[in-house]
Amino acid sequence: MMKTIFINDLLKDELVGKEVSVKGWVYRKREFKDKIFIVLRDSTNIIQAIVRKEDVPREVWEKALEFQIEGSLEVKGILKKDPRAPTGYEIAVKDIVVYDYGQPFPIKGDEDIDTIQKLRHLWIRNRRFTATMKIKHSLLKHLRNWFIDGGWWEIHPPILVGNAAEETTTLFEVNYFGKKAYLSQSAQLYLEALIYSLEKVFSLTPSFRAEKSRTRRHLHEYWHFEIEAAWYHLEDLIKVTEESLKYAIEKTIEERKIELNMLGRDISYLKKVIEEPWISMKYKEAIDILQSKGVNIEYGQDLGADEERELTKDFEVPIFITYYPREMKAFYMYEIGDGTVKNFDLLAPEGYGEIIGGSEREWRYNILKKKIEEWGLNKLKVIIGDMEVGAYDWYLDLRKYGSIPHSGWGLGLERLLMWVAKLGHIRDTLPFPRLREGWLYP
Ligand code: ATP
Ligand code: MG
Repeated sequence: MMKTIFINDLLKDELVGKEVSVKGWVYRKREFKDKIFIVLRDSTNIIQAIVRKEDVPREVWEKALEFQIEGSLEVKGILKKDPRAPTGYEIAVKDIVVYDYGQPFPIKGDEDIDTIQKLRHLWIRNRRFTATMKIKHSLLKHLRNWFIDGGWWEIHPPILVGNAAEETTTLFEVNYFGKKAYLSQSAQLYLEALIYSLEKVFSLTPSFRAEKSRTRRHLHEYWHFEIEAAWYHLEDLIKVTEESLKYAIEKTIEERKIELNMLGRDISYLKKVIEEPWISMKYKEAIDILQSKGVNIEYGQDLGADEERELTKDFEVPIFITYYPREMKAFYMYEIGDGTVKNFDLLAPEGYGEIIGGSEREWRYNILKKKIEEWGLNKLKVIIGDMEVGAYDWYLDLRKYGSIPHSGWGLGLERLLMWVAKLGHIRDTLPFPRLREGWLYP
């Protein structure tokens, strides 16, 4: 029989004294002379079940004795209120249905990181990680809803692609029937193609980056939430960013109080993020601040994790860093006369750093064409049948037939979660992170 009752459905005064049954796994087990306490867990919560030797047939007692941690079962019994029980209620067991007694569970809780990687398919059952997954679910749901309710269209761009959207150094190459293809680093170029018909679009896809250095915030595969909007200038984009993220965080706090508490996240801190205006400063100002703090950085150098930490650790709200020097950023960003581009990186506070990279796009044909040449991208070719075409010709075409101002960004879902849930390492935002350690296992 499928499961219809969950533990959270049982934690109710009106069921006290009634017979209940629930399916789940053994979370904790303690034995006394004539009592066995089994704390059962399911996807919703935990509940204590008590088996009293004198109250149950002998075979029920023996079944209870045999269970290992993570064994699977259904317990049936009378619901009682008990303030000593971990969730305030307890089931006085009358019967047990065995699914699997289980074997001694290989994870005790003090394993090193390599052992956890080897056992990750089992490790992910733990309650902290489950709470993290629920927070991620809520963040994404509300973010998506904000855009859908605002009239944005969800689209589904390809993952196998013929050209780079970001630096070519982080491309993963794939053998595509004897030809070179790549795993997508960003859906942006495809989103740009779709704004001419749908105007405001977004997508959620995996993005792949063959990052050379290992850090706490880089994965080789991550979930990329990207938006693109016709007619938007940088200021419009910044406004939408702040509104949509504030909404998603606010709704997530409402919905996931228990989980955030379980992770030890101070919710009052996150409330400030929602209530207060976010900060915006130009790249130049960011460099000035860093230099005044004694950080060794020059105008024209990129902000790395250390610089971002230094810049954000004293702030309680996210910071938009805008107008970077053109050479530091991708070719597609809209240039203004002073050598900077209309872009922003959004840095999360408390030292977390970049969670979004966005810009107004270069929509002037001649300037974009020159930049593609300057970046050397005009040399890249693809074959269609027996024709050879420039890999970026289609992208340039978008500036020939009804070009318009437009802007967009990409948000790393795991980066957002890492900050909102205050996690120490990005690997804990995903069940099966793609890192170089234990790369495809599990
Ligand atoms: P970083 O400087 O941190 O490497 P980036 O400038 O390469 O980031 P973008 O190319 O602007 O990042 O990508 C947009 C967003 O995608 C980033 O703001 C970040 O949230 C996320 N992102 C980029 N690379 C990774 C990665 N390797 N792992 C997880 N998320 C990433
Ligand atoms: Mg990068």
